[in-house]
Amino acid sequence: MSSSAQTLDKLWQTLTCPELAGVRVLRLDRFSDLAPGNKAFKLAPFLSAARARGMRRLLSFGGPWSNHLHALAALGAAQGFETVGFVRGLEADALTPTLLEARHWGMQLVGLDRRVYRHRAEARFQAELLQSYGPGLLIPEGGDSAEGAAGCRMIGEAIARATPEGATVVMAVGTGTTLAGVVTGLRPRHRVVGISALKGALDTERRIRNNLLRLNCQPEASWALRNDFHCGGFARVSAELRQWLLDSAVAREVPLEPVYTAKAMCALQSMLEGDEFDPGLPVVLLHTGGLQGRRGYPWLDTGSGQ
Ligand SMILES: *Cc1c(COP(=O)(O)O)cnc(C)c1O
Repeated sequence: MSSSAQTLDKLWQTLTCPELAGVRVLRLDRFSDLAPGNKAFKLAPFLSAARARGMRRLLSFGGPWSNHLHALAALGAAQGFETVGFVRGLEADALTPTLLEARHWGMQLVGLDRRVYRHRAEARFQAELLQSYGPGLLIPEGGDSAEGAAGCRMIGEAIARATPEGATVVMAVGTGTTLAGVVTGLRPRHRVVGISALKGALDTERRIRNNLLRLNCQPEASWALRNDFHCGGFARVSAELRQWLLDSAVAREVPLEPVYTAKAMCALQSMLEGDEFDPGLPVVLLHTGGLQGRRGYPWLDTGSGQ
């Protein structure tokens, strides 16, 4: 078993608070100090590919609080790569702590106007960027690709090792890349419920299917997405979610952040209360990390709810 797999097996925590007693949490936020969370898994195949091809520079896209750029900057620096981050709507005088750290690790930050940023997935635009900022390996925003999904397979395998009898697995979903990879590592008695952090992202399901097809994988586990727990949309926080996060005993047991993991945990609680899960199977929450993003929500630490 690889050392990453061994590390994963040590990241389990069983909740004790009455609302969610017995739920087993796989804490990717504790996977490493350098780049905790799911992003390191999605990035690993790109880092290997770049190394194999003798490339020295990695480039990618993200917003001002991007967990993806933050992880890329950290891992890139640790492994001897130069990194370039194309940042959505960046204003140079308003660097977030996320971007300040990325820059500290050596990432070159390039601001892209929101209208320009929209073209980030287009081949012609990417070729232009590489002309100016390459040569190097351009990684899709959020690692959204079959390669990124393949890097997450070992997370599913770790869950399968811990729950050989099967399980209901709840996790936050952005692009769906992580979910696609997790599903490929699971077994027939596993069911994954992805909680979309985005409002109206109706193509997420199709993107997950595409990534599974490109991996040539007919997963044994079943999966479904829930689109009714986004709490107002990406990076938005409804009054209910804010209150839940401030009051909940769960949030004192496991650190959460509002963009992804709090929505997933809150949804899990609501689904448990609604008796939506197979009572014969363990319930797993995959904690995908992202805690550096808590700094974007100062009310979390003042507790004032403002
Ligand atoms: C990026 C991220 C996700 C979403 O991952 P996808 O692979 O895009 O679905 C979930 N949780 C956290 C904390 C993240 O940073």
